[in-house]
Amino acid sequence: MAYLCLQGCFLPGGALPTAPAGSTLSLVKAINTLRTAGCFDLTVFTQDWHPPNHISFAAVHSRQPLEAIHLHYTRSGQLCSEPGRMQRLYPTAAVVCRCNTSSSGSLTHRPQQQQQQQQQHLSTDMVEHQVRQVLWPQHCLQHSTEARLHPGLIIHPDDVILRKGWQPQLDAYSAFQDNGRVQSTGLAELLREHGISSVVVVGVALEVCVKSTALDAVEEGFETAVVLAATAPVDEAGAAEAVQEVREAGVRLVQQVWDVLPAPADRKSNTSATFSSSRSSSENGVLA
Ligand SMILES: [Zn+2]
Repeated sequence: MAYLCLQGCFLPGGALPTAPAGSTLSLVKAINTLRTAGCFDLTVFTQDWHPPNHISFAAVHSRQPLEAIHLHYTRSGQLCSEPGRMQRLYPTAAVVCRCNTSSSGSLTHRPQQQQQQQQQHLSTDMVEHQVRQVLWPQHCLQHSTEARLHPGLIIHPDDVILRKGWQPQLDAYSAFQDNGRVQSTGLAELLREHGISSVVVVGVALEVCVKSTALDAVEEGFETAVVLAATAPVDEAGAAEAVQEVREAGVRLVQQVWDVLPAPADRKSNTSATFSSSRSSSENGVLA
């Protein structure tokens, strides 16, 4: 079970609201219904956990929310940058690259010869990732009140709390990895270690974190379901596209929470995994 980003910043009144005003309680209630059903062997909560200069913040780039920019990363997640502004923004996480389009059309990066310091960074770090980064209002700042998980959620001491988007130069929608597909959170390995083969994904936003997590879960080989009554989108148009995309990828879409719950009499015996979790949480989003 993965509960995504049930934080004040993504709920009505927050910086980047998803659930329609007034529906937060029904969302939390639906999620708590799943939580208390006793059918899940491991529960994971994620939290967006951004530093003030996070790459996803429109104001950092002097742009408007919902505009998009294109970013390139080295294999290790360093941001490829022209000399100047990005390096000032991310002095330890940006390197100077030169982009060339090869005859095959693929993009390759070479460090500028005169940038000896950056060249050292890139000497074993030449494979790039290209990311379309949607820009958002500033949201979910680390340690802020609005970054807290909703106080109405039932959270147990054994639950995993996974913080993501904590690196300034990398955004992360999925609970499994960052958007550049550079760094795994270790969640897939954790689930496998505990014999878990199926995952239910709920939370917000449907077309952002829920979609990305569900797609990664399928790609990792987990039987995956999304409960629509326990999610909310940023906007309905994006939600429709997301629903189609995850359905085509093999995600099971159900409307209500009881569609993924066994009948009450079967709940003790009808579990899909055999794991009783021990506490595992992370300050920086990478599970140990
Ligand atoms: Zn975010």
